[in-house]
Amino acid sequence: MRQILAHSRNLARRLILSCLLAASVTIPAIASAKPMILATIAQLGEPMSRILGDCATVETLLGPGVDPHLYRLTRSDVAKALQADGLMANGLNLEAQMRDMFDRLSARKPVIYAGELLDPTKIVLTGGVVPDPHIWMDPRLWAEALAASAAAAAKAFPACVPSVAQNQAAVLAEIAAVDAYIEARVASLPPSARVLATAHDAFGYFGKRYGMTVLGVQGISTESEAGVAHIRDMAQTIYDRRIAAVFVETSTAARAVDAVIEGARALGAIVTKGPALFSDAMGPPGTYEGAYVGMLDHNATSVVRALGGVAPERGLNGRLNTARQVKDTSG
Ligand SMILES: [Zn+2]
Repeated sequence: MRQILAHSRNLARRLILSCLLAASVTIPAIASAKPMILATIAQLGEPMSRILGDCATVETLLGPGVDPHLYRLTRSDVAKALQADGLMANGLNLEAQMRDMFDRLSARKPVIYAGELLDPTKIVLTGGVVPDPHIWMDPRLWAEALAASAAAAAKAFPACVPSVAQNQAAVLAEIAAVDAYIEARVASLPPSARVLATAHDAFGYFGKRYGMTVLGVQGISTESEAGVAHIRDMAQTIYDRRIAAVFVETSTAARAVDAVIEGARALGAIVTKGPALFSDAMGPPGTYEGAYVGMLDHNATSVVRALGGVAPERGLNGRLNTARQVKDTSG
């Protein structure tokens, strides 16, 4: 009897829930003219929320430390994506586990893939074949992707046209300022020290833009583990080229980097583990490093200082959290 009661209570609950869901889908369309746009990565969500300003609400799906290559949508993410009036993603296979869902939803609402709006000749191809999705690492290119995404959003939601016209220039000017800062700071490094060794191949666009050689312990996606032979080769390169620091990332595991550092030290290298860089995720929302410009400032300032160049401890805008800059010399 108790079971039957529980069963019917569940049924009733489910019925109420489905009514609520149906209601929540129709009410915003009638009552609120302000669209909600769901962005996957914060590198997209944070600047877009500023560019779109009051005309839309931009929510970011992936928080600090979350790896977009591996992330699978939860049930509440799916509910959010269903409720959203528009979706924004990087594309180019960054959000590998979300693509099917987003493509299916594109029949019902605008879905904007920022990286795929760029001139394809500007996309770096790994091994000449696979598009590198980490475009935000080149601020000039990311500014183009943001402007193209804003134009697409304004087309889909015409109420956003004045907001974009009003806000976009200021956001892009801040990005141009951090780009100039990074260029000047990297130039303070001796050419032989311009090597950026990190946990995975997220910094290809950064290396191309600022003239640094980039070495990733893992490949372009975090889906495949680094092999023993690759770790050994990388340790040898670090020793041979006298590379002073190898960097971990906030969204990937550190163990492969630890293995490389250990291997290089066994060969006699003097190498430190640099501060954790923001590769595929940013800092906590509301902090300086939780904004796109702050994330870039943190990365560039940390890298330049750890490799022996000149950069102010608190970065371009004097706002960096210095606790994040601490190098781990213990390995
Ligand atoms: Zn990545």
